[in-house]
Amino acid sequence: MSIDNQVENKNSVKKIALLDLKRQYNNLKQELNNAVLKVMQNTEYILGSNVQKFEQEFAEYIGVKYAVSVANGTDALVIALKALGIKPGDEVITSPFTFFATAESISAVGAFPVFVDVEPDTYNINPELIEQAITKKTKAIMPVSIFGHCADFDAINKIADKYNLAVIEDAAQSAGSKYKGKKSGSLSRIACFSFFPTKNLACAGDGGMITTDDYNLSIICKALRSHGSGANGEQAYKLLNNIENNSEDDTQDSQDNTVYNPAKYYNYLIGHNSRLDEIQAAILRVKLKYLDQYIDNRRSNAEYYKNRLKNIEGLTLPQSREGYYHSYHQYVLQSDDRKKVVQKLQDAGVAVGVYYPVPLHLQKVYTSDPDMKNRFPEGSMPVAEYLSKRTFAIPVFPELEEDERSYIADILCNSIDKEV
Ligand SMILES: *Cc1c(COP(=O)(O)O)cnc(C)c1O
Repeated sequence: MSIDNQVENKNSVKKIALLDLKRQYNNLKQELNNAVLKVMQNTEYILGSNVQKFEQEFAEYIGVKYAVSVANGTDALVIALKALGIKPGDEVITSPFTFFATAESISAVGAFPVFVDVEPDTYNINPELIEQAITKKTKAIMPVSIFGHCADFDAINKIADKYNLAVIEDAAQSAGSKYKGKKSGSLSRIACFSFFPTKNLACAGDGGMITTDDYNLSIICKALRSHGSGANGEQAYKLLNNIENNSEDDTQDSQDNTVYNPAKYYNYLIGHNSRLDEIQAAILRVKLKYLDQYIDNRRSNAEYYKNRLKNIEGLTLPQSREGYYHSYHQYVLQSDDRKKVVQKLQDAGVAVGVYYPVPLHLQKVYTSDPDMKNRFPEGSMPVAEYLSKRTFAIPVFPELEEDERSYIADILCNSIDKEV
């Protein structure tokens, strides 16, 4: 990710990273450095004012009532699943063509990930295949808005309503993406973001967020991120055990004040230590202001590639369906001869990513589980398996220069055109 990306003209071979984090830092250096220094001076290190303000600002940006920050995107998924009451023995439907953390979070709460194959054009879970995967044990559907293209939430929510299932969006790759005018993260009962350095909105380490319009879920998530303790823990305990809450003092008390608050030694749930760091929150508040600009740049890079690459035989470009606002977290193409194309790009100094080389049902950890292997053998997810052999990603990050993207397009044109 953060490979040294200075353009080296010595051998007249450019070096272009898949994502050059130094450019974004250099552009915002003063603002970011000041924000971090201020946190150091204020010493409100845990759940301080930056965390609270960032939660409000992010909720407003996404268009939801509540945003609960956590330590990373994986924890966001685990905590959201627990808040929904997902437990051992339950099944959760999800995509096999995603980062491992999606299914890992389901396994982490003891539930069983049920894979449903993806659509060949959007790479997202195929709603037409969901119903046949529902069993008596199914409790939730976890679509991923992969590479920044939202899943088809109208179709998914409709099925969920019919079978009384929760929908939890894995929005780790889709901060700033939209579906029918609404932001990713506001399209389902609950949604989870990651602020890992490679994501659309990125901090300087790990970070994550849960978004929802459901007040009760937001309280349970707040309790779970901090050892199930204090006022949030007590309230979450009552909600989970259907105990009337008589005290109406449930104002905006998210100020856990976790360092010196005696309430932290009263525990009501088995939770986590999973808070967003105050320094990361300060950094994210700076960067959130620029997120729309970053996405504009990603989209303009994608548009450029589309115009340059659309007529190349053997190359399939990423699709953006009508009504979807693709954020191009990754620009993922397909090639009939991935190995050759990737080699050509790498030889020319262009970094390439492969997302994802192994669909999740074929990961060792799942093929070595007899139940999983039986239910999802090789061949059971033909589209995901096909894509895993064909897809690759080229640089599309916001700070990519015009001469760089044209250089990348040239290489791709030359590598395929003639020999097909
Ligand atoms: C990055 C990512 C996650 C996990 O986020 P972390 O912050 O790295 O824990 C989960 N799901 C998807 C689809 C991701 O891309």
